[in-house]
Amino acid sequence: MKSYFFNLSQMLDFTSIKTPFYLYDLDLLEETVSLASKESSKYGFFIHYAVKANYNPVIFRNIKKFDLGVDCVSGNEVRKSLEHGFPSNGIVFAGVGKTNEEIVLALENDIFCLNCESLEELEVVAEVAERMKKPARVALRVNPSVDANTHRLITTGMDENKFGISLHHLQNALEYCKSSPNLEFIGLHFHIGSQITSLEPYRNLCNKVNHIWKKFDIQNYGGRLLNMGGGLGIDYNDPEKNRIPDFKSFFALFYNNLRVPPEVKVHFELGRSLVGQCGRLVTKVLYTKQGENKKFVITDAGMTELMRPVLYQAVHRIINISSQYGREIYDVAGPICETSDIFAKDTVLPFTSRGHLLQILSCGAYAESMTLNFNLRQKPDSIYISQGEIFSS
Ligand SMILES: *Cc1c(COP(=O)(O)O)cnc(C)c1O
Repeated sequence: MKSYFFNLSQMLDFTSIKTPFYLYDLDLLEETVSLASKESSKYGFFIHYAVKANYNPVIFRNIKKFDLGVDCVSGNEVRKSLEHGFPSNGIVFAGVGKTNEEIVLALENDIFCLNCESLEELEVVAEVAERMKKPARVALRVNPSVDANTHRLITTGMDENKFGISLHHLQNALEYCKSSPNLEFIGLHFHIGSQITSLEPYRNLCNKVNHIWKKFDIQNYGGRLLNMGGGLGIDYNDPEKNRIPDFKSFFALFYNNLRVPPEVKVHFELGRSLVGQCGRLVTKVLYTKQGENKKFVITDAGMTELMRPVLYQAVHRIINISSQYGREIYDVAGPICETSDIFAKDTVLPFTSRGHLLQILSCGAYAESMTLNFNLRQKPDSIYISQGEIFSS
């Protein structure tokens, strides 16, 4: 398994490429998306790709081949998806803070639906729709109060989280939709968090959803859609071994646990699980140094190219592709003027020196899409590998 990464590295003449850069394996991307597609279509489920995970145009174009819908969280994501040829009737638009302009854009382009997250938002959507003489299709994003059992900063479906309409207000929201001639209610939306690595939270979610669907008599309000969101995690600890998430068990769980009438269409919004493992960040060691009681490796990439460790203490596997000799414990840190700009604390690497190349694995999701301009850093290039061919964009 290890050889997969080393071979891939040897294919590249790294000396000619300016570091840091993102390196994408488009074959793995294709393998991953096609498996997700296959496993979901067994049950007639429909996948929207969560654009925010990675909107690199080459990644986007490759995903487009699989006829997925998209899940957007900003007007610009809607715009970008349309530019890339994703049909408007496969676009869903979530987010707690949609502006009037973004709602206008969604209605103008006749997207599949707005996932509304509050009563006030419903009122604004209804107002805009009335003004535009264009009824808006809406799903209600419900906060189901289910623990996703993931890092607290990427949990979204608990009472204290800002996302979704609380169960206490769901009845009001449904009644509001019913009474408004400018809103067409089509169903419910849930998204309980990200990097969920066990199926248990999803089982709990299914039970909750079954209960909600029945209790609120959703079908009677015109409900015919159940959007279960995304959040399926990837293996950051051993990405070489688990290159593709277990989509088979994931979709089977929903099929086996959701108890809604067969005519209700079930949708998903997957981001990380589709793109997370196909990308890495390649960075050069600028310096090494001995601290008082620690050895530091300073890389030319930092939190500006991969923010996840700083944002939510995420752990990424790091490999040294220039050397396999020896064993040492290092803190791997970036060049940014922030104490928190650390990729890994006390991580084991071969003896590492200036000029060595490191690869930070599992950087396909929420890495390139979160780049920062801080310290006036330049956005890195992206390099792609596809069927033995290497190209840049
Ligand atoms: C971010 C997001 C997703 C995708 O989450 P992943 O963990 O990348 O699968 C899905 N739905 C909504 C509403 C989101 O905000």
